[in-house]
Amino acid sequence: MIIAGCGPTGAMLAAELRLHDVRVLVLEKETEPPSFVRIVGLHIRSIELMAMRGLLDRILERGRRRPAGAYFAAIDKPAPDGLDSTHAYLLGIPQPVIVHLLEDHATARGAQVRHGCAVVGVAQDDDGVTVELADGERLRSRYLVGCDGARSTVRKLLGVAFPGEPSRSETLMGEMEVGAPPEEIAAKVSELRETDRRFSLAPAGVGVYRVVVPAGGVSDRAAPPTLEDFRRQLRTVAGTDFGVHSPRWLSRFGDATRLAERYRVGRVLLAGDAAHIHPPIGGQGLNLGVQDAVNLGWKLAAQVRGWAPETLLDTYHAERHPVAEDVLDNTRAQMELLSTEPGPRAVRRLLTELMDFEEVNRHLLEKITAIGIRYDFGDGPDLLGRRLPDIDLKQGRLYGLLHRGRGLLLDRTGRLTVGGWSDRVDQLADPTAALDAPCVLLRPDGHVAWVGDDQRDLDEHLARWFGEPIGRSQG
Ligand SMILES: Cc1cc2nc3c(=O)[nH]c(=O)nc-3n(C[C@H](O)[C@H](O)[C@H](O)COP(=O)(O)OP(=O)(O)OC[C@H]3O[C@@H](n4cnc5c(N)ncnc54)[C@H](O)[C@@H]3O)c2cc1C
Repeated sequence: MIIAGCGPTGAMLAAELRLHDVRVLVLEKETEPPSFVRIVGLHIRSIELMAMRGLLDRILERGRRRPAGAYFAAIDKPAPDGLDSTHAYLLGIPQPVIVHLLEDHATARGAQVRHGCAVVGVAQDDDGVTVELADGERLRSRYLVGCDGARSTVRKLLGVAFPGEPSRSETLMGEMEVGAPPEEIAAKVSELRETDRRFSLAPAGVGVYRVVVPAGGVSDRAAPPTLEDFRRQLRTVAGTDFGVHSPRWLSRFGDATRLAERYRVGRVLLAGDAAHIHPPIGGQGLNLGVQDAVNLGWKLAAQVRGWAPETLLDTYHAERHPVAEDVLDNTRAQMELLSTEPGPRAVRRLLTELMDFEEVNRHLLEKITAIGIRYDFGDGPDLLGRRLPDIDLKQGRLYGLLHRGRGLLLDRTGRLTVGGWSDRVDQLADPTAALDAPCVLLRPDGHVAWVGDDQRDLDEHLARWFGEPIGRSQG
């Protein structure tokens, strides 16, 4: 298996595939991590996934927990009480740190990562994919996943359409030293934030500030921003450049919003920013990519190992494309709410009032943190298609039992069995009274694939998600 790109999505996918002993080669164009250090927020579902794979302690050591408030369009409201998660917080962590942790995790599990290898060509036939590198080397693999970011070469080579809206406004972000006294900066920032939420200067170390300021137009993306760009924009927006100097790093980002029309073309798939881009409001892009990876990993592994039911791999697009569509929509809505025009400001005031209603607040938070996702697995109880939180079982916490990325049957009846699927699915009898169902079948990504108490019905669903049982597939 070849993965193009070792960002958070590619690294997570590599680790997921290694859980199933699939040989994985990750090709990463860059030799060094990026110079800019954006702090990203991991939301509840991604934190849960890290716990599900035994990674959370390492991430908590390097990240900073904070309450999950002000999560929607930066509207200053706390998260609702009593969220259905043991990880109901936001985890701030520098992106290069999380990428490094995930890459380490993948290589420790046996994935091979080659840096300085840019994918420039892709051709597929009935048996596999030929991947061409910039230096002319050709590699062969059964499948290829493009996790190569917003300007994905793989997506372009596939000819997959990427419809949506181009960038209409850009923002400069960087870290630099300032000459102005802290009190003067604080006073100006709080005055300006009243009207322009895309402006901020926040301390980021001794004498260093993280500066965010509108770029005042859409520029040539090939040219990196300069300190002079920051000075000019600060003077335009704040009336002073605060004496900024000695930049640590400077970057620029836009608000383009696009979604790949297809996540799969034959043996080539797309995940993460290669499949969807949107403005960073609400901090969802990395989360979405990591969750794509966990959805895709076990399905692709099943395909390679030969037990995947025929339609399993296509459920990746069917499940994840609508989730991305929803994220794109909520970022569009949040961007409108940041506008300084009278109409959007009135809508913002109204939504601020509405968020005092517990249900509204909860609905929005579950959307942003992805714990509200319910995949469409057909008719059934509300639990079907949802993720289970990290419930307490007699045998320990649930997520501790999902580290190996296998299916899991939680059986309160004590009568059911995973039978011929025991090489892919674990089973726990009498797990807990807290489980609000007689019996639940979990997929390796922690989503509920079946709820019931009948063995024949269970067997049908085991076959639907996990293919033929051992005896039958061998016979
Ligand atoms: C200012 C800002 C703040 C953000 N804050 C958050 C946040 O708080 N929370 C959040 O969830 N998200 C946030 N995001 C979004 C997040 O950074 C991205 O969604 C995330 O990096 C996507 O991960 P990825 O692995 O899909 O792609 P990338 O991180 O872009 O990784 C792609 C990798 O592929 C490599 N590559 C590219 N082309 C090739 C090729 N041809 N061959 C081989 N390798 C290639 C690249 O070098 C790169 O390493 C933010 C974004 C911005 C701009």
